[in-house]
Amino acid sequence: MNARLPLDFDLRYLELPDDMYERVLPIPHGSHHLVHANPGAFERLGLDPALADDPAFVALCAGHQLPRGAKPIATVYAGHQFGGWVPQLGDGRALLLGELRDPHGERWEVQLKGAGPTPFSRMGDGRAVLRSTIREYLCSEAMAGLGIPSTQALAIIGSDGPVYRETLETGAILVRLAPTHIRFGHFEYYAHSGRHERLAQLADFVIEHHLPELAERPKPERYLGLYEHAVDCTARLLAAWQAVGFAHGVMNTDNMSILGLTIDYGPFGFLDGYYPGFICNHSDAAGRYAFKRQPQIGWWNLACLEAALSPLAPREAMRPLLDSYGDRFESCYFDLLRAKLGLRETRAEDPELIIAFLDLLAAYRNDYTQTWRLLANFRRDADNTALLDHFVDRERCAAWAVRYAERLRAEGSDDAERAARMNRVNPKYVLRNWLAQRAIERAQAGDYAEIDRLLHILRTPCDEHPEAADCDAPPPDWARDIEVSCSS
Ligand code: AMP
Ligand code: MG
Ligand code: MG
Repeated sequence: MNARLPLDFDLRYLELPDDMYERVLPIPHGSHHLVHANPGAFERLGLDPALADDPAFVALCAGHQLPRGAKPIATVYAGHQFGGWVPQLGDGRALLLGELRDPHGERWEVQLKGAGPTPFSRMGDGRAVLRSTIREYLCSEAMAGLGIPSTQALAIIGSDGPVYRETLETGAILVRLAPTHIRFGHFEYYAHSGRHERLAQLADFVIEHHLPELAERPKPERYLGLYEHAVDCTARLLAAWQAVGFAHGVMNTDNMSILGLTIDYGPFGFLDGYYPGFICNHSDAAGRYAFKRQPQIGWWNLACLEAALSPLAPREAMRPLLDSYGDRFESCYFDLLRAKLGLRETRAEDPELIIAFLDLLAAYRNDYTQTWRLLANFRRDADNTALLDHFVDRERCAAWAVRYAERLRAEGSDDAERAARMNRVNPKYVLRNWLAQRAIERAQAGDYAEIDRLLHILRTPCDEHPEAADCDAPPPDWARDIEVSCSS
């Protein structure tokens, strides 16, 4: 215990029956040091940035010392992995330390990911490697910068304990934050093991603490409300991923947050060239989780959640909610794309204009992020040479540009004002694989400056960061064939 740390933990999950979790303790592995602390997350939690330099903070994050009030647990869940049912998974290498309260009174669960085995580790070692920890750390902050719901990351702790994957790697712990880490898979576990009383307790727990506006509703309406919320926030999440060009890579139901947060960053990737068939996970040979399939997989996963909630609410009442997913997704997606195009008004022909532009990008795999920034410079009444030069098929691009110019005229759009608006929604910087890889290679050699630099840029990805001149670039030659798989 360390009295100096102004951190008081409690944990509402402990209100649930004690057969719904296992008490666990972190098992430190070697000696530890702070790799990086995230100033953005410190600010959100209302923590003093100086805390990051306190050895007691590092000891806490490394699992060497339990903080005041902490009673760590691992929770059990199940899931559909690549379409196949797995009856039991659970927090195999993530230990839930407790909850902290931010200055607004909001609670944040604090997980240590990689702090040692739990009863749910199965064949795994309960550890995480520096490589994948850096990727999750940077990407969760990038999502925060993009305004996309996600778990957050407080810090990375490095360890000198060896971790074996395909090769010997540097071990690390990610300190992860979320309002809750409850997944679709938690519901599936209690539904399919026939423990329906626990299923109701879990649903009531989520409603009471995260969707209190539903708490007054009688049964089964409150559970229909929970399902509708999941459908809606999943549709919005998928729309946001597709709009920014993010591929998650492992959309198993155990990696789907009940609150629609991006969770469990593995072999994710942001698009470089626009290629709808992009498969970011080297292990996903069949492309089940290819970029363009993600919205349908969101639906498939929600169908699994419908089955899991069926002991609590009639399926005929849930089905129209599931059926509304496509419309919710499309409406949100086209709103986001309209904003990316700088359109203020909504017109029936917009989806056609948007799809024609995406087809143009797909035909020559133009860089997804850069092209949107370039489009901000479009002049309604000029010949837009720079934009046309960007496309191999200038004529096809010119034909699209005529339609776009007409559409802009129709809403009386002002070029300068539109450009400013577009540059506030179209990021200049995303966490391209090659950027993450460069930061990882330097960190493996003991230099963490690149993590710091990227974190700073990714927090405000729409701003110009002249000090990071190369960070908006497509992959250099050395990085064209980076392969990322599930092993982490
Ligand atoms: P993931 O593919 O990371 O979403 O993990 C799927 C399941 O495997 C989850 O239940 C994880 O807790 C578990 N898992 C993944 N890696 C490890 C590991 N190194 N040790 C123990 N469990 C793990
Ligand atoms: Mg997972
Ligand atoms: Mg995981």
